[in-house]
Amino acid sequence: MKTPVYMDYHATTPVDPSVVHAMIPFFGEKFGNAASRQHHFGWVAEEAVDSSRSLIARALNAEAKEIVFTSGATESNNLAIKGAAEGYAYKGKHIITCATEHKSVLDVCKNLAKRGYEITILSTDEYGVLNPEEFSRAIKEATILVSIMIANNEVGTIQNVTEIGRICKDRSIVFHTDATQAVGKIPIDVQAMNIDLLSLSGHKFYGPKGIGALFIRSKNPSVKLVQQIDGGGHERGLRSGTLNVPAIVGLAKALETCVDSMEVETTRIRKLRDRLQETLLKHIDDVYLNGHPTQRLPNNLNMSFLYVEDNALMLGMKDVAVSSGSACSAAEPMPSHVLKALHIGKERESSAIRFGLGRWTTEEEVDYVAGRVIETVKRLRGLSHPARYAKTDARVDEQ
Ligand SMILES: *Cc1c(COP(=O)(O)O)cnc(C)c1O
Repeated sequence: MKTPVYMDYHATTPVDPSVVHAMIPFFGEKFGNAASRQHHFGWVAEEAVDSSRSLIARALNAEAKEIVFTSGATESNNLAIKGAAEGYAYKGKHIITCATEHKSVLDVCKNLAKRGYEITILSTDEYGVLNPEEFSRAIKEATILVSIMIANNEVGTIQNVTEIGRICKDRSIVFHTDATQAVGKIPIDVQAMNIDLLSLSGHKFYGPKGIGALFIRSKNPSVKLVQQIDGGGHERGLRSGTLNVPAIVGLAKALETCVDSMEVETTRIRKLRDRLQETLLKHIDDVYLNGHPTQRLPNNLNMSFLYVEDNALMLGMKDVAVSSGSACSAAEPMPSHVLKALHIGKERESSAIRFGLGRWTTEEEVDYVAGRVIETVKRLRGLSHPARYAKTDARVDEQ
């Protein structure tokens, strides 16, 4: 086993070798511009884009013409939310979202609030689950758009988007979902789930960085967005700019691979995740699971180790790559807005670690990480809270 061990698959993933292989010809011999309609080089590139688009559409139960390529989920979220806000402003200016959304949704809404839109930010229960009744009550005459993610990137909680989508459909409100963490990991069907707009990003499912897509429903209803980038009229005018053909080919290949291996991979990864969770719960006191115990991504484990600062824990085990709940860019660490929204208390907020498992996680790595967490938590607690933990963990202190 090699160290450091990567267990931060929610942040990004390595590109699958089969994806790299599929992309390579499009940097060299097949370098054409997909918009060059008059010659062979352009046709080859366009053909690759077309078949990639069809492949992605099929994986979502959508149609090829409903897929627009972007630079990633941040751009897809911007296009979906700003595009719908502007496109439907004639009907109303009220938008509903949730406190646990990604910043690329919340900050877009914040921006729209400055431009005269009214934003309702719904709260969740302690597991990060939205209450559909509370959601229904938030809907007004002027509501034009709802943006609720499928799966949360920090705590892995999966929302009941089918129900939320159904309510939106009944009220003729456009429903956008940030599916960045869900795509490739859980089955997605934009028809069955009543989704009008869906954002995804390649680098979260073993594709390259800097490529993503937005699904835009074309019938029942046909969703009309206002483009956010003007230029050559690519992507039916919704996203101008020369297409990144190698990345598009890689995006499609990555998604195809995920869909083909989803059942096997989910079972394997969930088992490893559960093993990690159980080992940590068994060997450490005062540990809490963050997020929903069962309605959760199979690769996600977010836990708080009380009385241990998240960033101190990470510094104490530099051979393990995980993620902390708080951003340490400021002098004072800022607790994550997601954990804050769960109202789990300051102690749990400041001691939360996110483990993200993935395609190359092994049982050996899980056991190694568990061991490192156990020994580091005990050592740090022995230093900071000797009275509370001294008796049980004295052995560890002496190392
Ligand atoms: C990573 C992530 C994003 C941003 O995706 P980029 O492609 O990196 O811009 C948005 N939403 C969620 C839920 C994510 O996990």
